[in-house]
Amino acid sequence: MKLNLKRLKESPGERVPFDWTEAWVELDYKGRRLPFVEAVRFRGEAVARGDAVHLTAELATTVELECSRCLRPIRHPVHREERMELREEPEGGAWGAPLTDFRYEHGVEVLDLAPYVESLIRASIEAKPLCRPDCKGLCPACGRDLNEGPCEHARAEPQGERPVDPRLRKLKALLAGAGANSNSG
Ligand SMILES: [Zn+2]
Ligand SMILES: [Zn+2]
Repeated sequence: MKLNLKRLKESPGERVPFDWTEAWVELDYKGRRLPFVEAVRFRGEAVARGDAVHLTAELATTVELECSRCLRPIRHPVHREERMELREEPEGGAWGAPLTDFRYEHGVEVLDLAPYVESLIRASIEAKPLCRPDCKGLCPACGRDLNEGPCEHARAEPQGERPVDPRLRKLKALLAGAGANSNSG
C-alpha cells in the first residue's frame, strides 16, 4: 500500500487511482492479536491539492473478534468509505502526532498507507463486541457457556440468589434456628 507522494505532487490536481488487496495475518488491537479472515482491500483515488494529498477510498476486510461475554469468535466485517487528508509534518517538527491525524514525516516520497489503514480498522471495532445482543455469557462459577443452556448455578439466579457455600448454608440454618428460639423465648 505504497503511495508515491512525489509523483502526485509533481502533477497537482491529477486524480490517480489505486487498488490494493493484501492478505494480512493479524491486527494488533489493545495488546491482542486479531486474525484477519479476509484480505484487506483498499482502493480509491489520490490527488495532490495545495499542501495536502487527498484520498477518497473504500476499505473492506473482515477480522475475527471475540465475544466479550462468551468468548466465541465473531466475524467482524469492515466496510468503510474514507476521505483522508495526508499532510506533511514541518521540517524537524511535530513528532509523535498520532497516525489517525494522517500526518507523515517530512521529506517522505513514498508513503506506506498500511499503518493508516490499520488504524481505520481498529477504529471500526467496538470496545465490547457481542456475538448477539442477548448473549448470556459464561457462568462466573463454572465457566459454562450459558447460551448452550443453564447450569446449576444459573438456575439459582432468577430468585436473585447467588450460589451459597454448603457450609454457609448450614450456618445460616443454625442462626435462623437460634433466632426462632429467642423470638419464641
Ligand atoms: Zn457471546
Ligand atoms: Zn455454572
